[in-house]
Amino acid sequence: MKTFQAPLSGEQLKEFTSRPRIDFSKILDTVSPIVEDVRARGDAAVREYTAKFDRVQMEAVCTPIQDLPEPQLDAETRAAFDLAYENIAAFHRAQQAAPVEVETMPGVRCWRVSRPIGAVGLYVPGGTAVLPSSALMLAVPAAIAGCRTIVLATPPRPDGSITPEVLYCARKAGVTHVLAAGGAQAVAAMAWGTQSCPKVDKILGPGNQFVTAAKMLLQNSEAMVAIDMPAGPSEVLVIADAAANPTHIAIDLLSQAEHGPDSQAVLVALPGVDIEAVQQEVQRQCDLLPRAETTRRALSHSRIVQAGSREEAAALSNSYAPEHLIVNVEDAEAWLPLLDNAGSVFLGRYTPESVGDYASGTNHVLPTYGYTRMYSGVGLDTFQKQMTVQTLTAEGLAALGPAVAKMAAVEGLDAHRRAVTLRLGTSSPDKFD
Ligand code: NAD
Repeated sequence: MKTFQAPLSGEQLKEFTSRPRIDFSKILDTVSPIVEDVRARGDAAVREYTAKFDRVQMEAVCTPIQDLPEPQLDAETRAAFDLAYENIAAFHRAQQAAPVEVETMPGVRCWRVSRPIGAVGLYVPGGTAVLPSSALMLAVPAAIAGCRTIVLATPPRPDGSITPEVLYCARKAGVTHVLAAGGAQAVAAMAWGTQSCPKVDKILGPGNQFVTAAKMLLQNSEAMVAIDMPAGPSEVLVIADAAANPTHIAIDLLSQAEHGPDSQAVLVALPGVDIEAVQQEVQRQCDLLPRAETTRRALSHSRIVQAGSREEAAALSNSYAPEHLIVNVEDAEAWLPLLDNAGSVFLGRYTPESVGDYASGTNHVLPTYGYTRMYSGVGLDTFQKQMTVQTLTAEGLAALGPAVAKMAAVEGLDAHRRAVTLRLGTSSPDKFD
């Protein structure tokens, strides 16, 4: 891992905060025709692309979940997912926003109500890994928000079936339909709707470049579909102090690096951290992993920065704006006021990222690529929209109306003005004033 010494020069800071470049132009050339074909031919096109890319001949494309067989899982696996479900549900249920109601002036009452998005599509990756945890992270808040149609798309297994753990989580969380397809064809099927797949209003969830490119393309199309957030490779930044255990620092970096060759793992070390010991532990632990090859490739573009103080370390972390931020220091909670840009923060010695990835209750679908500067991760509000409401009494309109009429006159919008003055009786319905 490349090591920097803070303070960083402008060039070094640029290098430190850079991410692997993603060139979508080539991928869009592949994805565009797939998206258009699914629009035109629906299920038949989804079947063909699934045969081509996943080598699976499927019969049913999208199935109501009650028509799918009950998945068989051993008791220990079920218990683990049940526990995760309970924690994720508890944390997301509590995110219901308190109603906002204000009488802005006597007789003028304004409030805001939230409503679920009617139909959502959840993409659960399935090409190289089995990700039932992502099914929980997406479906639990969707169901708690009250979305009526919840389509879960995931690539089928070679025999055409859905991974039993994904199906178990989908059923438990309240998914209504399962689309046994992956890639751009699955995203397009949910965005346009097909003979068997309901059209959705918003598509969420991580995926490879084909999935991401299809989401980007469709959100700017006639499909009238929203997406969650821009997506890039996964990343972690670890801040460690001199008392942090080098083995724990190393395994936290590796748990990110093992995701894929583009993943990034960054260490910001406070004075006294034995960088040499950490590097050795990274090598030693990496060699033990079944995914050592992928992990090494990710480590080849990962970094270490030596910071001189708490403030400098926090500023470096805020500049990088990581998806996951682990603060492995003595007084971790005291750091929080200094931290502005991170998708999910893990405070203290006993809080590895893994707990949030699976089961503590927080969501693991998070912005990457520096987008934590302006985006949040998935939460209950991701599946809701807000509606404002107002009602005025006669006295309220009498008090507010003249100002509104004046502003409408300034803007030359006379119907607006007269909508007020005709009610107040200060204009005549028979004569323009
Ligand atoms: P995937 O489900 O995203 O994609 C598999 C699909 O890609 C296949 O079903 C196939 O239809 C399509 N495809 C494959 N090759 C193609 C080609 N040449 N042309 C057109 N389509 C093709 O699964 P994956 O590939 O394993 O990728 C999973 C991704 O999800 C990874 O990039 C991983 O980093 C990411 N991920 C991110 C998070 C996060 O929260 N940031 C979490 C989990 C996974």
